[in-house]
Amino acid sequence: MIIQHRFVEQIPRELEDGILYISMEFGSAMHKCICGCGYVVVTPFSPTDWRLIYNGETVSLEPSIGNWSSECKSHYFITNNKVRMSRLFNEKEIKEVRKIDRQNKKKKKKERRKKR
Ligand SMILES: [Zn+2]
Repeated sequence: MIIQHRFVEQIPRELEDGILYISMEFGSAMHKCICGCGYVVVTPFSPTDWRLIYNGETVSLEPSIGNWSSECKSHYFITNNKVRMSRLFNEKEIKEVRKIDRQNKKKKKKERRKKR
C-alpha cells in the first residue's frame, strides 16, 4: 500500500484517503487511517512524538503509528511512502505502550527544565 505525501501550509478540513498531509507551519502531519475507517490521525513532530524523514522524494514517519483511540486499532509503519501493516496490539500491550509514552514525555519535560 502506498501513501502519497503532500506538503501544505494549512491542513485542509476534508482529508483525502491515502494522502499524508504535512504542515511544517504547524509541525505536524495528518492523514486518514489507512484501513479506511475514516479516523483522522494526527502525528505531531517532536522529540517525544514523531520524526519526519524526507529524502527529497519520499517520506517516512518514525516511530510506527498506532491508532489505539480508533475502533480499528490499526498499527502500521510509513516508510518511504509505503505502508506496512504491523500486528495488532492487545489491550495490555496498548496500555504498556501508552505508559512508556507518558514516561518519556515526563522525562523530556524535566530535561528541558534543567537546561534553562
Ligand atoms: Zn482504521
